[in-house]
Amino acid sequence: MTRVVRRWVVTGGSRGIGEAVARRALSEGDRVAIIARHPDQSPLASEYRDLCVTAAADITDPDSIQAAITNVQLRWGGVDVLVNNAGIHRGGRIGRIARTDWQAVLDTNLSGAFDTIRAVLPAMGDGGSIVNIGAVVGLRGFKGDVAYASAKAGLIGLTRALAIELADRAITVNLILPGLTETEMVGGLSDAAKATLKARVPLGRTAKASEIGDVIWNVAGSTYMTGSIVAVDGGLMAALGSAQ
Ligand code: NDP
Repeated sequence: MTRVVRRWVVTGGSRGIGEAVARRALSEGDRVAIIARHPDQSPLASEYRDLCVTAAADITDPDSIQAAITNVQLRWGGVDVLVNNAGIHRGGRIGRIARTDWQAVLDTNLSGAFDTIRAVLPAMGDGGSIVNIGAVVGLRGFKGDVAYASAKAGLIGLTRALAIELADRAITVNLILPGLTETEMVGGLSDAAKATLKARVPLGRTAKASEIGDVIWNVAGSTYMTGSIVAVDGGLMAALGSAQ
């Protein structure tokens, strides 16, 4: 039986977790459009010339993301899978975080996903899949993470509301909660901070980006999972208390 080739859009697909899921999809023979502000940092477009395209767009700018999606649609005729992965982290407790950092985190991590979904939906046929990338801190509070936690908690509501809204088109919408994953985003953490975080993880280690990407790949392939929150966190959520 011939496998159907799916057309993916991966925001933030130029590195880290986004690159890992893009690589997995490409290695399976799917097509992937990588969206980032500097997408050419990714080696994937040259490695997979026929299957991978890059589009420079800033997801905090709805016109920019719309233009990128329009180009993908013109090239491939539609989108089957959207991974809302692009994100930034800015730490700081309530009294210290700069208002501009709060806004940047919400604009990128929450409104960016909203605007990307709005741009993609007209190009997505029935039976498509949307996978949002949250974080454990969106469900469990950590000190010094008010902006990031608020944005990632917002993605939970977005995921559940859309899972219901889009069910009549058989479009599934799910949320992945990665644990601490070795990417540029956590590269700035000190070894001591990483050791403290790792000590809370039952598996006792960080994740490789490919371990998260593989789960995103599988979730995007499910036709019956929707509105689900999937932790890929080495057991952290279980250790912190698993009630959702
Ligand atoms: P990285 O910092 O390694 O990669 C982030 C990606 O997002 C890059 O491709 C970046 O490209 C892109 N990006 C950032 N801002 C924008 C923007 N405004 N418009 C378009 N693209 C943008 O992060 P990770 O791979 O670690 O994180 C991926 C996702 O996983 C994020 O949503 C993050 O919150 C989440 N996550 C990560 C965890 C971890 O431990 N690493 C843990 C839990 C969740 P460019 O800079 O060129 O725009």
